[in-house]
Amino acid sequence: MSNSIQAVRGMNDILPEEADRWEGLEDALRAWLRAYGYRNLRTPILEQTGLFRRAIGEATDIVEKEMYSFVDELNGEQLTLRPEATASTVRAAIQHSLLYGGPQRYYYFGPMFRHERPQRGRYRQFHQVGAEALGLPGPDVDAEMLLMCARLWNDLGLEGLRLELNSLGSAAERATYRVALVDYLKSCEGDLDADARRRMHTNPLRVLDSKNPAMAGVIAAAPRLLEYLGAESLAHLEGVQRILKDAGIPYQINPRLVRGLDYYNLTVFEWVTDRLGAQATVCAGGRYDGLFEQIGGKPQPACGWAMGMERLLALLEKNTISPQVPDVYLVNQGAEAARVAFRVAESLRDYGFSVVHHCGGGSFKSQMKKADACGATLAVIVGDEEAKAGEASIKALREVRAQVRVGLDLLPEAVAEILYPEESEV
Ligand code: ATP
Ligand code: MG
Repeated sequence: MSNSIQAVRGMNDILPEEADRWEGLEDALRAWLRAYGYRNLRTPILEQTGLFRRAIGEATDIVEKEMYSFVDELNGEQLTLRPEATASTVRAAIQHSLLYGGPQRYYYFGPMFRHERPQRGRYRQFHQVGAEALGLPGPDVDAEMLLMCARLWNDLGLEGLRLELNSLGSAAERATYRVALVDYLKSCEGDLDADARRRMHTNPLRVLDSKNPAMAGVIAAAPRLLEYLGAESLAHLEGVQRILKDAGIPYQINPRLVRGLDYYNLTVFEWVTDRLGAQATVCAGGRYDGLFEQIGGKPQPACGWAMGMERLLALLEKNTISPQVPDVYLVNQGAEAARVAFRVAESLRDYGFSVVHHCGGGSFKSQMKKADACGATLAVIVGDEEAKAGEASIKALREVRAQVRVGLDLLPEAVAEILYPEESEV
């Protein structure tokens, strides 16, 4: 083993049993996203490094120290494995003039890459599902995104997710606030950690996002951005809150919520839990009206969020998503039976059943063991004797029920009767 090659640290294989849960969750997420009119957009995993530098911002954790960037030796291009997908979505929208016909709602799924210290709920390759509403100024669509999240928690039976909301105002409001914040931070420079002392000059708002508990006191006493917002920004925030109240969705204004990426303005939010330790944020997002222009497009209002799939799955009880098991394990023994088995398997699949066709021969007993171990509901058995008679036997593997033998032409109906007794009765 010592000589064998292992996966890259912080990048996990998702083995079938776990992958069953991923697929179950992905199916639920897709249905939910479509119910709100979101359509899938798939962008490449590699982008020009400049895209993220411009979109996410130079003085952010992601760009400063988390990106997997390299030079393509073949042509000298600076490339980065995407750390998030909003920048790519906006790049694609600009590149293909996707908003030409009006606003668009898109969703994506996929792996993201950040060079962080791996721990529970924090990986170097992790996965996000995200949605972006492009071309809509809000606050209605901002609130709709929160309503849709609330519905998802309900659909998935997730409890204890709290919504934290804030407004980052406009660029001008943030500039005024920034001066006040820097003055304050200077006044307590002795209490700042090294990160904060550096950030104070490069990107002071980021100091508020510090995860260092020693900084909590300084941050709590800092001036609040909310107090620097003008009428328009406050009305936007008020608009979001009104819709949340109408829908009965509880939330908390968190004046220190600034998010780890620079592209946000106005509405920002996080859904947080107490059940995942320090990795408390399950879903995070907000409005990013400046991003289109920032990466070279015509200005467009936009809003979006991303959820960490690993964190979502960690919150879901093991049994909320049932594992994928085949309907039928097809046992076949003897040369004649092996040939007939192919026809039998396809005829069952024609009816929509999932069938694992036993391959590789072996005794009847060992095949039945495999049938049981794979979790299939039924074994369909074709021995040489059955094959000659044009018949097959059906054995229930998960309940006590007499084995039956039926003609091959009646087999799919007989299987349906056992798998779906209610439907077959009508
Ligand atoms: P955190 O504060 O936990 O580092 P973040 O603000 O960097 O999160 P975002 O960039 O907003 O995270 O990403 C949205 C969501 O993606 C997070 O809320 C989280 O659920 C998930 N996520 C982010 N980074 C990771 C990671 N390294 N491993 C697993 N999930 C992650
Ligand atoms: Mg982070």
